[in-house]
Amino acid sequence: MSLLPVEEALRAIAESTPLLPIEEVTPAEALGRCLAEDVVAPVDLPPFDNSAVDGYAISGDDLAALAEGTPMGGLALRVRGVVPAGGEMTSSALRRGETFRVMTGGRIPPGASAIVMREDVDEGEPIAAGAAAAGTADRGEVVRVLRGPRAGANVRGRGEEIGAGEPALLAGQLVNPGGLGFLIALGVDRVRVRRRPRVALVATGDELVEAGGPLRPGAVRDSSTPTLAALVASAGGEPVPLPIAPDDRAILTERLREGLAHDALITTGGVSVGDYDFVKDALGSLGVEVRFWRVAMKPGKPFVYGVRGETRVFGLPGNPGSSLACFERFVRPALRKMAGDPAWAPVDVEAVLDGECGNPGDRTYFVRAALSWRDGRVRARPLEGQGSGTLRSLAEANGFVMLPPGAIRRGRGALVSVHVLPNGYGAIRGEAR
Ligand code: AMP
Ligand code: MG
Repeated sequence: MSLLPVEEALRAIAESTPLLPIEEVTPAEALGRCLAEDVVAPVDLPPFDNSAVDGYAISGDDLAALAEGTPMGGLALRVRGVVPAGGEMTSSALRRGETFRVMTGGRIPPGASAIVMREDVDEGEPIAAGAAAAGTADRGEVVRVLRGPRAGANVRGRGEEIGAGEPALLAGQLVNPGGLGFLIALGVDRVRVRRRPRVALVATGDELVEAGGPLRPGAVRDSSTPTLAALVASAGGEPVPLPIAPDDRAILTERLREGLAHDALITTGGVSVGDYDFVKDALGSLGVEVRFWRVAMKPGKPFVYGVRGETRVFGLPGNPGSSLACFERFVRPALRKMAGDPAWAPVDVEAVLDGECGNPGDRTYFVRAALSWRDGRVRARPLEGQGSGTLRSLAEANGFVMLPPGAIRRGRGALVSVHVLPNGYGAIRGEAR
């Protein structure tokens, strides 16, 4: 059976990925998830005219006078009071020759045409903090405006950011921390998103012992379940780790049956050509339709993908390096797509190779690399220790150099295609200059 090219495998997965149902959640619960529907602004933002600076309100008449020319020493205005952010507003309109000292976020007094920045006003003697409270009667304080702004300057008008009824966020948009703040500011308390994918994890292998347990001779710790649980969570899914399945057809089948009751089932191990590699057969006996087995990817060749009803099955190879690479190239995109993220595809960029590597084989080689950023370019340094059974270099990797098949070598400075791993791996590092 020939190997399926990596991009064809991804396409086959993407084409067969269903959308999860919609649910209603709070903005905080929507963080990191994609909206299933547009969010319409229920109110104007800002909800009232307010000042963008600490300054002095000025009437239209005074502004017009200043436009004609600033008198010697500045235009004198009598201070009627102070408007703090969140403070009361005066009911009587600002008249010519008057001002209010308005703090950033304070409401614009009626009759004001602009706010003069405090820096453009001669305040005379320093003003004692709290000397004039909002709306207090005339204390005879006078300030002089040295430079008149344009009409409307430093006023954040009601509805300037967004008006009630306008679309605030669009379907498919990821709710990032800024978006969360925006929703809160708008007073939105429920949004519609797709349900998080529930992802069962089944590690297979007689040699595996659970993390924390003692090791008997010949055994290894199941490192993949905790790693995959973290990856699923980072992809916005809910990991459901099931107990390790031994290489026993009957027990394995029961475990997989349990796993198939989720949106996705990820297995590790048992998909190669070993005497005890029963996963594919067991999946078949449970009614899973295997869409493909074996991809032209190194590591990750034995990867198997299947479908049963709405459940998607990802049979990852047992080697930790293989399962992680397959997760990033195939599973994360599928989980994102299920959750309604239009930007589900892997991020591939061009990078400058900071080292050497080659691919003698006939599969796309996913070379673990440390990505950094220098002189306006992404640099990829291939890491020591590329064995699919090893984890050490994965602790440092934040990308894969993807070397196409066909006996190629790439030297330092060559341009290569790189799969950028998401932020959880450590963002592309800046370099000190
Ligand atoms: P398999 O794909 O089942 O032939 O396993 C390939 C290699 O990966 C073997 O050396 C296994 O011991 C190892 N392996 C399989 N599953 C895990 C796991 N969950 N954690 C760590 N190593 C594993
Ligand atoms: Mg095995």
